[in-house]
Amino acid sequence: MAGLVAAAEAVSHGAEVVVYEKGDRPGGSFRLSSGVVWRHLEIEDFRAECPAGDPALQALVHERLDADLAWLEGLGAPVIERTTGNPRTVGMRLDPATTIAALASHGGELRVGEPLHEVPDATPVVLATGGFQASRELVREHVTPEADSLFLRATGWSTGDGLRLGLSAGATTTAGLDELYGRAMPAPPARIGEDRFVDLAQLYATHARVEGADGAVHETTTWSEIDVVQWIARQPGARAAFHVPEANLQHRVRGRTVGEMVAAAEAAGAPVRRGSGEVAVEVVAGITTTLGGLAVDTTARAAGGVWAAGADVGGISTGGYSSGLAAALVLGRIAARSALGVA
Ligand SMILES: Cc1cc2nc3c(=O)[nH]c(=O)nc-3n(C[C@H](O)[C@H](O)[C@H](O)COP(=O)(O)OP(=O)(O)OC[C@H]3O[C@@H](n4cnc5c(N)ncnc54)[C@H](O)[C@@H]3O)c2cc1C
Repeated sequence: MAGLVAAAEAVSHGAEVVVYEKGDRPGGSFRLSSGVVWRHLEIEDFRAECPAGDPALQALVHERLDADLAWLEGLGAPVIERTTGNPRTVGMRLDPATTIAALASHGGELRVGEPLHEVPDATPVVLATGGFQASRELVREHVTPEADSLFLRATGWSTGDGLRLGLSAGATTTAGLDELYGRAMPAPPARIGEDRFVDLAQLYATHARVEGADGAVHETTTWSEIDVVQWIARQPGARAAFHVPEANLQHRVRGRTVGEMVAAAEAAGAPVRRGSGEVAVEVVAGITTTLGGLAVDTTARAAGGVWAAGADVGGISTGGYSSGLAAALVLGRIAARSALGVA
């Protein structure tokens, strides 16, 4: 997302742009996402929910998102809904595939299947490789010793290239390198293709008792349940069980009942036990993006000649969760303008 945004912004200022894309298609994890680009209603809510993030970067995302969404719409991104379906947030739901096509058509030369291997000497570069969640080694080093057991709920291409390239150019990292965003997903032997990353998410920890393999219990503290997935990611085998009293199966979470989410997990092949007035669903932590990354200033500059955006950048959601797509959109545009030296 962030790289395509930066490219479209740079081209609009007359720059000649080349977009290197490691994968076999543009759009990264954005293509697999729900496409909800959002911000907290009030900046105070953002600060309270992500208390260890950089207040200046958070203010940028908060203040610029609405105008940047209008810009995106102006490029031809189709809006599916002008609400997020969550009363705590505002934003839009976009159709990822057509938004990616709209951005790509405005964004210069796109070289699909060509990774960026090194920072060019004399040309400004915007790093936007989407974080390091697909590198088991980096996730084990920074996030959890259970890295091998995590379910990768993202593309396989975001292996920390931006982090490596940024550090090699003299950039530094933010706090929160150990933080991840993701969802509890049906545990093996469930089979989950990338087209099921959204609808198989098990988002009902607030209606369940969450128990790790060794009997440890976690009390949910957030509406986004980010604390839950981070906790599960550090349990043995990155697994837990959601014990749901039968009476709670009828509760609705973001348009679905708990019972529907349980049934979807069961149909996908996850271990589900019923009896004694409850249903127990085995889940595994699914990692979507890492949240820590390169430190940038409010011009998105990470080092001399190097700017960064999207999940390669840390310091925005630190201590909680905010929209990764919103940060990618806002920082992507800022990075392009800064790299070109335009206001
Ligand atoms: C199932 C799912 C649901 C989600 N739902 C939401 C949601 O509703 N709202 C929200 O805000 N966020 C959501 N997200 C998260 C969101 O998709 C990410 O935060 C966002 O895509 C990050 O943008 P990015 O540009 O950093 O990374 P990406 O969009 O992943 O793009 C990074 C790109 O860099 C490429 N790349 C990697 N290494 C290199 C290299 N060396 N050279 C060249 N290219 C490289 C990758 O192939 C990829 O195309 C969801 C994600 C998933 C998977």
